[in-house]
Order: sequence, then structure tokens, then C-alpha cells
Amino acid sequence: MQLADPQLLRDKAYINGQWCLADSGDTTAIYNPADASFIGEVPQMGAKETHHAILVAQQAQTSWAKQTAKFRSEIMLKWYALVIQHQNDLAHIITLEQGKPLAESLAEILYAASFIQWFAEEAKRVYGDTIPAPQTDVRIQVLKQPVGVTAAITPWNFPAAMVTRKLAPALAAGCSMVLKPAPQTPFTALALAELAHRAGVPPGLLNVVTGDAEAIGRTLCDSPIVKKLSFTGSTAVGIHLMQQCAPTLKKLSLELGGNAPLIVFADANVEEAVAGAMLAKFRNAGQTCICANRIYVHEKVYQQFITQFAQAMAELKVGSGFDLSTNIGPLINSAAKAKMKEHLDDAKAKGAQIIQGGRDHTLGGNYFEPTLLIDATADMLIAQEETFAPLAPIFKFHHEDEVIAAANATEFGLAAYLYTQNISLMTRVTEALEYGMVGVNTGAISNEVAPFGGVKSSGLGREGSKYGMEEYLELKYLCIKV
Ligand code: ADP
Repeated sequence: MQLADPQLLRDKAYINGQWCLADSGDTTAIYNPADASFIGEVPQMGAKETHHAILVAQQAQTSWAKQTAKFRSEIMLKWYALVIQHQNDLAHIITLEQGKPLAESLAEILYAASFIQWFAEEAKRVYGDTIPAPQTDVRIQVLKQPVGVTAAITPWNFPAAMVTRKLAPALAAGCSMVLKPAPQTPFTALALAELAHRAGVPPGLLNVVTGDAEAIGRTLCDSPIVKKLSFTGSTAVGIHLMQQCAPTLKKLSLELGGNAPLIVFADANVEEAVAGAMLAKFRNAGQTCICANRIYVHEKVYQQFITQFAQAMAELKVGSGFDLSTNIGPLINSAAKAKMKEHLDDAKAKGAQIIQGGRDHTLGGNYFEPTLLIDATADMLIAQEETFAPLAPIFKFHHEDEVIAAANATEFGLAAYLYTQNISLMTRVTEALEYGMVGVNTGAISNEVAPFGGVKSSGLGREGSKYGMEEYLELKYLCIKV
């Protein structure tokens, strides 16, 4: 398919409202994960260009913060309308560079747009406080002010939504941003920048720098001008960035790895649990940080669940994201596939049984068969690490305490899911789970109005919702003697 608006496929970085090449002229080639075909090239920028982007972001932020919230909101709503208007082209770009099925790309664009709309509305509701003072001659007020210049580093699995989930609250709060998109998926971020430009986002307020992740990241972290970094990606890189940000004491939002348990209790509606597990496991070919990584099923419904889950899995069609019948696209690269194989081989060696899949897909490349494993146990890599692939391991459990302990036996704490009809059990378990988000009788928990984020090694801070706005605001307390 040709893009209806070919101008959306931008192959330059976006700094100070202009489309720029790297100073060196160097570029990096970007390939389609489905067939390794060449998509295009983006500038290979480094420290110098990033530093320039920070300086222009600083200038732009000063005037943006002085505007009314309504002014900022209106520009953001124009941007939102343009994203909606160009949703098909944007979805096409996601599938092209990321591989997910077109329907999922379209859903991602609507999800990404929802953050722009939500935070455009929230911009007008950044209320401060008046606090009753402890003395009669004093008045106490609390202002909320933008943190200033911010930076964002985003991953490839949601190339649009991870950008807007950071950028929209930043712009709404009165901040500017330097964004480094994932090297695999720069074109979606650049297309969003093109639309922000058309909507009237002033030059310098949003800058998209492509290229050397380490050099760009270090420049953003080292800069005393950058007051906040928001990162979504692996825990290892998150820790590295946090260390780099320590000398300048930046505010941080870190959305890192997950290892989500999905627990099916004996009284669960098994049909709904299967539907929820399919969604939570196989969305984006298993490549989301809230994908169900471990599925715990009570012994009483173990067989029934496996039978129905296997039936549902048999319906999954693997293929190109552009084929409208596809449910599972390719993995992002050969390293992702190698990790899935490693987890699979380790599980087999430790006694798991393959019920379905388990092989390279006949399409070759980065494709792998969706795989169902049963008799999984805690000593397997699939129990301990994030698999990030269409591999569903089923663990049998007997008691509530046992499954809570197993679910919590991980360094991660992002999302968890449980299925039960029993309200007392639900209350006990949701309170005991050490996770930032818990889905009860549902496998779909992400939306713009709720706080997304994790505990433990899954990160710091929340994105989306009124809480997501706070991350881009500083409190200033005024003590006024009257
Ligand atoms: P994944 O392994 O899923 O790609 P990463 O955490 O490596 O996850 O990548 C997430 C984002 O972090 C990407 O934009 C990537 O370029 C960026 N990144 C990786 N290493 C660094 C680094 N040392 N400094 C700054 N950014 C980095």
C-alpha cells in the first residue's frame, strides 16, 4: 500500500522545527522485520546534534510555559485530530517497521492518540492548592509548574504510543522534549513529529534525534538543562540511565521489564480466562511488557483450560502484518527469536511438554510458531525472565498462598492478571500481589485514563491518567506573610 500522504514518511531528524541530517552526513538503514527489506535511512546523530536539540528545547520551553493552558490544549487537540485523520498511514508505518498486524497498529494509533486528547484536556486542570496556615498572618499556596526541558527514550514495541504517553503530558504541562526513538522504529516517531509540526507545535518544543543510542542517551543524561528523563525499555538500560542521571539529580520515569503472572482460580469462568489469556499473551506476538509471561491454572480447571486454550491457539494465523487475516506477525529481530528458543529449550530440558507449536515457522526469518507449554515449573527460565515472544507456559497450582508466592517470586512488578468470581478471594489476592497494575477478569488493562507503571525492578513513576501529568510538574510552595 502507498501512503495516502507520502510526506509522513520522514527520513530526517526533527530539530528546531526543521528536518535535519547528521553533521557527519552518516545514516543508518532501517529494515522491515517481516522480510528484511529496506525501508529507508535515518540520520546517525550523536552528542553534538543532541546538545543542539537540548538548547533549542530550552528556548522553546520558556515561551511555551508562558502560554495559557488553553492555548497549549488547542494546539494539542489539532495534533490529535491530525493523528486521527492520518491513522491509516500511521498504522501502515508501524506495521512496516515493527511487524505487528495492521489491526493492532491501528489500535495502537488510536491508543497513542488517546494520550494526546486526554492530556490536552488535563492541561486545563493543573490545579494548585491553598492550605490553611498554622499562623494567622501567613497564607500558604502551592503552585504546579512545568519541570522544564525533558527527554524521552522509547522502545520499538509500541513506536507510537510510547512516544505520545510521554510527549503529551510534557507538552500539556508546559515542558519541551528531546526524544530518541528506538533504532528499529524511527519512522513512526518522525511521522508523529510531522503531524505535531502541522498542528502548530512551535519549533524546538519537540525534537526527535535519531542515531547513536549511547551517545544521545549520555548527552541527555549528563545535561543539567534536561530536568527529567522518561524511559521505557529494559531494566538493564533503565538502571544504566538512572546512574547516568544521578549527578544531575534528574526526575525519572522508568517503565521497565515485566514478568506478568495470569492466575486462573478454580471458580473462574474458564472461557473468559482463555479469551483474556489469549489477549494478554499474544498481543504484538507476545512483545509487550504487560504480556502474560506465566499462566498459573488451578488443578481443578487445569485440563479444561489447556484444552480450550490450545483450541484458541490453533486459530492463530502467523504471517505478514499486512495480510488482514494475520494475528501474529514476526518477532522484531533474530535476537528476539533466539531468546524464545532458549526459553523453550530450557523448559523442555527441565520437563515441560509442548502441546502446540515449538518450531520455527515455515515462513522463516523472524517468524516463530505460537507455542503452548504445560507442566512449567519455577526453575525454568520462562518463569524467571521476560520471554517477550509468543510462548505460553502453563503452571499448575493447588492453593491460594502457593500461587501468590509464585506470582510474586520475581524481581519484576508491572502487571498481573487474575480470574475468579469470588470477591473475597479477589480482594485478598489483588492486595497481596506486588504489582503496579492488576487486571481482574480481563486481559486488557491499558488506557489513557489509568496510571500505567510498575514496582520493584519494573520501574518508577506512572504514565497516563492524572498521575502521569504530575511527573512533568514541580510543586512550588509560597509562604506569604500578610
Ligand atoms: P530492547 O532490548 O527491547 O530494545 P532496550 O532497553 O535496549 O530494549 O531499548 C529501549 C530504548 O533504549 C531504545 O530506544 C534503545 O535505543 C535505548 N537504549 C539502549 N541502550 C541505551 C543506552 N546505553 N543509552 C541510551 N539509550 C539506550
